[in-house]
Amino acid sequence: MTGMGPVVDDGRMGGVPERFEDPLIRLYALADEGILVVCPRCRGRAVVVPWPDRGGDVFESPRRLACAGCGHVATVVPEWSEWGGATDPYFGLPLWLRARCCGGRTVWAFNESHVDLLERFVGARVRERRASPGTMSLVARLPRWMKTAKNRDEVLRAIGALRASLTG
Ligand SMILES: [Zn+2]
Repeated sequence: MTGMGPVVDDGRMGGVPERFEDPLIRLYALADEGILVVCPRCRGRAVVVPWPDRGGDVFESPRRLACAGCGHVATVVPEWSEWGGATDPYFGLPLWLRARCCGGRTVWAFNESHVDLLERFVGARVRERRASPGTMSLVARLPRWMKTAKNRDEVLRAIGALRASLTG
């Protein structure tokens, strides 16, 4: 990807904006939109959603795993959850959206909104920090290797792979 000149946002295909302002989204909020995981039965794409409905406590409200491919369904009332790795916090299943990157690192996302956010952040030339009351935003917590300019192209390619597997 070198020698091709700067990335130009021509507005097509939801082009990557040059300037990024942290929307202060937290990982927990994205979890409520549904987490794409690898189905433990058929290895296809399944989703983990709040169950029976949204609005409960993100750490304690029940979650449901459902696979449209094989019909597998499971529910869990979380007694604990583990956040910040390439598995879903409730069932511990591998995330569907994972891509190797930068010498053994893994870029991962819960869902399409998460991919959008990562793409906008990593692709931006100018990143505006905002004060984040309470727990840091998802963007503020991203690891250093995802933020360095020298990894930008490689990380963006990995994010592109995530986007491709949204429709695959
Ligand atoms: Zn399945």
